[in-house]
Amino acid sequence: MSDCLFCKIIDGEIPSTKVYEDEFVFAFRDINPQMPTHILVVPKEHIASVAELDSDNSVYAAKCLEAVAKIAKQEGLENGYRVVSNVGEDAGQTVHHLHFHILGGAKMADKMS
Ligand code: AMP
Ligand code: ZN
Repeated sequence: MSDCLFCKIIDGEIPSTKVYEDEFVFAFRDINPQMPTHILVVPKEHIASVAELDSDNSVYAAKCLEAVAKIAKQEGLENGYRVVSNVGEDAGQTVHHLHFHILGGAKMADKMS
């Protein structure tokens, strides 16, 4: 999508700090980190959110999660991490291109909301 921030990052039109890339997936550091390690894993196909996944495009979600596992090892998150995907207004989704946050590098609060 031409006006999508993450499509532009994938295309290199907007710079990012890349941590991983393959045929299906692009991953880069969040510009406003909420944890010592905060990485965004996005599919190379414009899918608005988890709510838009179906049997035709779910391979992108699977590939994103495979990438999460690889990146977490690469980043040394052996003590654990959190994977978050915000969907829609109530969850505070601000970029409408599917993305999985990897949050780690310190102990997190027990509450998730
Ligand atoms: P969400 O609120 O789940 O839609 O997450 C969007 C995330 O994108 C936020 O954590 C932002 O800090 C992050 N973000 C916005 N613009 C950029 C950018 N240019 N480079 C890296 N991360 C960004
Ligand atoms: Zn997009």
